[in-house]
Amino acid sequence: MQTADCIIVGAGLAGLSCGQTLAAAGRRVQIIEAADQPGGRVATDAVDGFRVDRGFQVYLDAYPEGQRFLDHRALQLGCFEPGALVASGGRLLPVSDPWRRPLAAIRSVLRGTVGVTDGIRTARLRSEMIRSVRQGRVDPAVVAPGDERSTRSSLESRGFSADFIRLFFEPFFGGVFLERELATAETVFGFTFAMFSLGRACLPAGGMAAIPRQLASGLPTGSLELGTPVERIEPDHAGGGELFLADGRRLAARMIVVATDAVTAANLLPAEAGGSWQPPAFKSTTLVAFAADGQPACGRTLIVSAEPAAAGPIDNLTVPSAVAAGYAPAGQSLIYASVRGDWPGAAADLPAAIQQQAAGWLGAEVNGWRQLATVAVPRALPVETPAVRRARPVSGQLGPGLFLCGDHLTTSSINGALAAGRRVAETLLAS
Ligand SMILES: Cc1cc2nc3c(=O)[nH]c(=O)nc-3n(C[C@H](O)[C@H](O)[C@H](O)COP(=O)(O)OP(=O)(O)OC[C@H]3O[C@@H](n4cnc5c(N)ncnc54)[C@H](O)[C@@H]3O)c2cc1C
Repeated sequence: MQTADCIIVGAGLAGLSCGQTLAAAGRRVQIIEAADQPGGRVATDAVDGFRVDRGFQVYLDAYPEGQRFLDHRALQLGCFEPGALVASGGRLLPVSDPWRRPLAAIRSVLRGTVGVTDGIRTARLRSEMIRSVRQGRVDPAVVAPGDERSTRSSLESRGFSADFIRLFFEPFFGGVFLERELATAETVFGFTFAMFSLGRACLPAGGMAAIPRQLASGLPTGSLELGTPVERIEPDHAGGGELFLADGRRLAARMIVVATDAVTAANLLPAEAGGSWQPPAFKSTTLVAFAADGQPACGRTLIVSAEPAAAGPIDNLTVPSAVAAGYAPAGQSLIYASVRGDWPGAAADLPAAIQQQAAGWLGAEVNGWRQLATVAVPRALPVETPAVRRARPVSGQLGPGLFLCGDHLTTSSINGALAAGRRVAETLLAS
């Protein structure tokens, strides 16, 4: 049996940041990954000359952990316009920059639909969230959940009108949280709001997978083993334990970090190892990718839908090839439609229903779009309601030399996953 100092199971962003932090401190580390690429839920597939991400994701360049671990310049980040188009009643309403100039943006565009007080409240919320982030009070990756409320209750208690919540917060944050009830904890919302306000929403050249690729390239040669599923982990009460691999090998390590998603972690470990810990449920999403000749009129601007689910399946619509290089062959565009979870139609009808709804917003050019791929992501984000966050373990340490790691312990975002890996590595180094 081979023995190692520290083995990390899973090369998602959390496993990669953990590995980088340990390697930078001089530890010998081995990362065992089931898939044939690092990155986990941050993945991109080549489809007919296009690069299609596994679910619509954006990287926010204000993420503190991103600034710590990533070389933004080398990623060749392209950015969305800071504003958006809000689809309502079959029309697109431009909101110029709700993050940096909320009062002006909201007054000018949604005039007549919502009152000026909502604009003033948004401006106040923005200042408060930025201040709280700078003082370390709303980082959901480090703040203990305590007595958080849901995003919706927080917005209601701040006096936002029901119309404004429906027209602004539901379409913007429904797409981020993958749920329009806004049941996600207010700390997660506050941090995300501040990140949108302080930076830009970006995509790296050639697809989101460039992010984990860059992280993996910083690991010591030979420390990452791909295509190697771990089947079972047997902890040792003296520290670490044994890993049973699908290829029949057994590995022993003094330190084991389980950096898979939460449900897989619970399956790999014996029930008693987690104590009372229960993995959170997942939220799912679907992305339909289209190809088009030329560029859709919305260009680098995000379209979010404030229409009812009965009006069509689109949650948000984007053109990644207009934002960053390498997503589409020359002269062509890649278009993403993220599908809302509450659309009542059948999966087989999705592409046609998306084109019909989008044609109402962008015109007849949409009829020429060709469906490239439909990407279903059943395990996209762990549920992050206040109750679920309160049930998380305070520390990822399950026993001597045995650690849990991943976005389910911090917050489900690129920043949260990177923070989770770094924090476990720091605990391990201190132990
Ligand atoms: C559709 C979608 C949209 C998102 N949108 C955004 C966004 O816009 N902005 C943002 O910041 N974040 C977004 N996120 C969240 C972000 O991508 C995740 O929070 C983050 O990638 C989670 O990283 P992780 O390392 O914790 O877990 P994972 O990425 O799940 O990594 C776990 C790793 O463990 C591996 N593994 C599993 N089982 C085994 C096994 N038995 N043996 C060995 N290895 C195993 C997996 O293959 C994987 O590589 C989105 C996620 C999804 C899916």
